[in-house]
Amino acid sequence: MPENAAATTTPLPAPTVRPGSGSSTAAWSPPAVHVLAKPTGAICNLACSYCFFLDKELLYEGDRFRMSDELLDRYIRQLIEAHDIPQVTVAWQGGEPTLMGIDFYRRSIELQNRHRKPGMSFFNTMQTNGTLLNDEWCEFFKEHDFLVGISIDGPRQLHDAYRVYKGGKGSFDKVMRGLRLLQKHGVEYNVLTTVNRINGDYPKEVYRFLRDEVGTEWMQFIPVVERVDADGEPAHLRGSHASERSVGAEQFGSFLITIFDEWVRHDVGSVFVQTFEAAARNWMGLASGMCVFNETCGTGLALEHNGDLYSCDHFVDPDFFIGNISDRNMKDIVSGSQQYDFGQDKLTTLPQYCLDCDVRFACHGECPKNRFIETPDGEPGLNYLCDGFKAFFNHVDRPMKLMVGALRAGREAGEVMTVITGEDRALDAELKAVGRNGPCPCGSGEKVKRCHGRAGMGVPSHPMPGSLGTPRPPVTERGKKAAARLRDRI
Ligand code: SF4
Ligand code: SF4
Repeated sequence: MPENAAATTTPLPAPTVRPGSGSSTAAWSPPAVHVLAKPTGAICNLACSYCFFLDKELLYEGDRFRMSDELLDRYIRQLIEAHDIPQVTVAWQGGEPTLMGIDFYRRSIELQNRHRKPGMSFFNTMQTNGTLLNDEWCEFFKEHDFLVGISIDGPRQLHDAYRVYKGGKGSFDKVMRGLRLLQKHGVEYNVLTTVNRINGDYPKEVYRFLRDEVGTEWMQFIPVVERVDADGEPAHLRGSHASERSVGAEQFGSFLITIFDEWVRHDVGSVFVQTFEAAARNWMGLASGMCVFNETCGTGLALEHNGDLYSCDHFVDPDFFIGNISDRNMKDIVSGSQQYDFGQDKLTTLPQYCLDCDVRFACHGECPKNRFIETPDGEPGLNYLCDGFKAFFNHVDRPMKLMVGALRAGREAGEVMTVITGEDRALDAELKAVGRNGPCPCGSGEKVKRCHGRAGMGVPSHPMPGSLGTPRPPVTERGKKAAARLRDRI
């Protein structure tokens, strides 16, 4: 599964950096690390067209791509040692982690119990493509309270555009089967959708499908940005262009805005979109909870099947190899200057254009892996998705302020829905009164027909072609609990 770093995780807050405690090697001492462990390396039973892990097989050519029992034991022990806090997240992903077989994860649970420190609790997560799930897997997940992230790119025609088996057959039916099994067994799950050039044009279809047909209350939208060279050849972390499968910057902004506009009118408090929650937290002045929208990073690492540790799941590359846990303890590796500098570089390499940006507090230049274009005045290091983020964060400014104001006053964030839909009705009435050739009442100076009277503008939501008109399911107990969790976090 590509583009899914931290997909099933509750990302750590920005680290409280404590300078090294006199040791010559410790550059910092994060209280916890978040490791995405890949027990099958890049090996997967699918061959999604945009998967940046596929070429990672070349890093370990000839390897069996299976984490050994001995390494699993070492990993769990070192992960525990790297935590000064009692909650430890054990996060599995791939490739496709279910290819390891269920016994590997049973052993992981045994080892957690064997090595745990007093008072320590574990939170197990797995990001899967869902195609290999069966009753036995789901019973196991349920028994051990796994949070399972399942990757779905939208309704069949959008999902199957890229998420295919090696022979080219779409995976939609198998994924939906896996998803229904998770639901049947009451497993906690969330949905991760990678936004690419194709589904990026269908935000409403994707959102309504996930909400109404899949029935999920937790969504993550991750942009596909594949770097290529001038000839269009893959050039992960080095290319200066985006592939044709990559979502466009404005396209991604528009995708998020369209979904936000629907969400802020109907679903605040009942549907949780990770990007919106992260934005709300940044508007509250808190750490966003998503590494990409934090000022610095460096506590989210990737562990390969052979114990190799990399600075981040998006930087599995020889230049960002920081050590092997069979040679050095993970805590020592992480507290070295290489990893500290990696996390700080996110801030220190921002171009002036970002430093001057009104929405930097929410964006922070997003992920360094996407910073490969130039600013308008020619400075390198601007995020390829900048135009989209600028548009999105500016668009949500007022509703965010309304929600944050309500929460700070001890009221529900959801009251924003009443405010916005009330404004919609008022605007609609004014539009009708003015007529298509009159000045738009929004104050833009344009005629109504060129502004809020244009198709797609003004009061949503007209049915989209092929849209899924299934009525909303009632808010479930899980939804109510999630709403309470959001309130607590904010
Ligand atoms: S490089 Fe930093 S911001 Fe990007 S995914 Fe990794 S940890 Fe997150
Ligand atoms: S919106 Fe653009 S300019 Fe502003 S912080 Fe983000 S990447 Fe930088």
